[in-house]
Amino acid sequence: MQAPAARSPLPSLDALLRSPEAAVLLGRFGRHATAAALRAALTARRTARAFPAPAAGILDAAADALARQFAASQRPVFNLTGTVLHTNLGRAALPPEAAEAAAEALRSATTLEFDLATGRRGERDAHIAPLLCQITGAEAATVVNNNAAAVLLVLNTLALGKQVPVSRGELIEIGGAFRIPDIMARAGAVLREVGTTNRTHARDYQAAIGPETALLMRVHPSNYAITGFTAAVGTAELAGIAHAAGLPLVEDLGSGSLVDLAAWGLPHEPTPQESLAAGADLVTFSGDKLLGGPQAGLIVGSANVIRRMNANPMKRALRLDKARLAALEHVLRLYLDPDRLRDRLPALRLLTRPYADIRATAERLLPGLRDAFLDRPVAVEPCRSQIGSGALPLDRLPSAALTIGGNSLENLATTLRARPRPVLGRIATGRLWLDCRCLEPDQEASFLAQLPVRG
Ligand SMILES: *Cc1c(COP(=O)(O)O)cnc(C)c1O
Repeated sequence: MQAPAARSPLPSLDALLRSPEAAVLLGRFGRHATAAALRAALTARRTARAFPAPAAGILDAAADALARQFAASQRPVFNLTGTVLHTNLGRAALPPEAAEAAAEALRSATTLEFDLATGRRGERDAHIAPLLCQITGAEAATVVNNNAAAVLLVLNTLALGKQVPVSRGELIEIGGAFRIPDIMARAGAVLREVGTTNRTHARDYQAAIGPETALLMRVHPSNYAITGFTAAVGTAELAGIAHAAGLPLVEDLGSGSLVDLAAWGLPHEPTPQESLAAGADLVTFSGDKLLGGPQAGLIVGSANVIRRMNANPMKRALRLDKARLAALEHVLRLYLDPDRLRDRLPALRLLTRPYADIRATAERLLPGLRDAFLDRPVAVEPCRSQIGSGALPLDRLPSAALTIGGNSLENLATTLRARPRPVLGRIATGRLWLDCRCLEPDQEASFLAQLPVRG
């Protein structure tokens, strides 16, 4: 038995769907989602016995729910944390042309595994291997999903069921689930710890080498440093020890810059070129750390070892997709023109951005920020940025920040995170710090335009 519509405490779904407001929702979100949202809003009113419930309120509730449901979860942010290659914020930002190359590859059929010259099947590595060899001087190269995958593939290919001596000073965790002992175990290799946390000597490696040894491995400690009474065996010396025993030397460089950062006044970070020249047989490093490209794991080294990795069925499971290959190819080509690299590669441009430049951005934004937060002290102050992604953890780059003081800084941080393009800073010494290093001049207007209209 049905009550007459006029006396029902709730409008009917049909009536709601026929309203002009619903027509807008139907156009944007489609019949299925709109009806579901209206039904949910009706149920909420009925359950809460929130009567009378006019149609306008129910339509508003459904519109809000639909807007939330259809908003992108992964969104661009203003990274004002002071950490340039922030792992949680997606590490290196790509050059626009590299991003466009990736988007074009996603929209189209491509020559991903097709050789135009012969009209036959090609190799996806062929797009980047020659570039990597040219840049690093390696004999051969391949690429996988990320550097963790690169280490996994190398160990699984060369050391399955065999021993790998690693210095106790290099048994690192890179945040998340990347820990050398765990990767080693999952790769099927047996970790043989050598030396001590602070000091490992050549004789420690020599004593560990036996019939079960597959290779020697050196791991860049990346995100931490051992100082004081320390000793480590350098790449050249370790290569000598490995080769004398007929074993390959593998080096996991982590960030592995492809250029000498000292040329731009940054601290020196080991390059794959240097490792190979010092005698390493294989070097692994990330695509989205100091290299400034998309997420990828790059492996360079001797041709016969790379060939064995390409024959490992695991390679297929770890391979890169066409979009990232397109972006990586573009980024690697920028390295062929080192004179313009700094201007073209955002990661390098941001890391080498002069203090005066950053300070000028902060000063230009200051009046707008003061207007937005009238009841809080706002200032420009010097600060220090970090490179991030475990690169050069002890080095800090001189930078400038907008700082906002006052009470309840957590609320302030929440307000800034709720902007259409969320603004992320960091709270320290009683203020919220917005490091302006990664806010380039062409973004200043859009940053100001979305500040709260006074808080
Ligand atoms: C960052 C890092 C990794 C992991 O690289 P991803 O690209 O994040 O997978 C592995 N080893 C070292 C030494 C690193 O610094």
